[in-house]
Amino acid sequence: MKKPYLIIPAALLILSAVSVFNVQAQDYRSQRETMVRTQIRARGINHGPTIKAMRNVERHLFVPAVRRNRAYEDNPLPIGHGQTISQPFIVAYMTQLVNPGAGDKVLEIGTGSGYQAAILAEIVDEVYTIEIIAELGESAQKLLKELNYDNLEVKIGDGYYGWKEHAPFDAIVVTAAAEYIPPPLVEQLKDGGKMVIPVGSPFMVQNLMLVEKKGERITTRSIMPVTFVPFTRKE
Ligand code: SAH
Repeated sequence: MKKPYLIIPAALLILSAVSVFNVQAQDYRSQRETMVRTQIRARGINHGPTIKAMRNVERHLFVPAVRRNRAYEDNPLPIGHGQTISQPFIVAYMTQLVNPGAGDKVLEIGTGSGYQAAILAEIVDEVYTIEIIAELGESAQKLLKELNYDNLEVKIGDGYYGWKEHAPFDAIVVTAAAEYIPPPLVEQLKDGGKMVIPVGSPFMVQNLMLVEKKGERITTRSIMPVTFVPFTRKE
């Protein structure tokens, strides 16, 4: 026969572990609500689907465990391999700029933690994302699968060439700073499609550019100064 004086403390232990977990989940939820209110809406983001996605995606799961308590701060955070997860506002801003909608197909260059890809996958039909650092791409892929994003594919490789098999795209989001706009990405944009890309020298202030394709015409507009990690190339 089992001894009740052992079962009761064990049950209490499990109950308190569950409630600590709940308190923590609640706490992250309220931090996320505050982030959306003070960093996203207060700064003029008004695209409904973007706001909803920023509210839904659990950003703390995309940062290394030791930085989880800082996940909802108003800044980028290191994710290893010298790379960063972008500041929440920048993620929302870039998302809103390409005006994604249900039914769209989007390409992201620079998977990193997978956070921007998850935000896009909440909004559109299909997301394709490319990461050049295998370890980052693989861990993002694992996490995104665990979170049941089955409308999303991760590829390890040099995003310079885009992803021809799935082109053309309604939108392309580049999250690393390139010296110039890669021509294959412009080619893989749909007629009427939009691309957002930071352009400029690495480790300096770059320009966030909005590229739009209308028939044969390509227009580029400089939106605001930003600082991103460099767009690197495979040797
Ligand atoms: N979107 C990411 C931000 C990651 S930082 C997030 O939400 O976390 C930019 C990422 O771009 C880095 O992980 C870097 O390794 C990757 N990168 C740089 N050059 C690349 C290239 N040519 N192709 C694909 N990924 C690239």
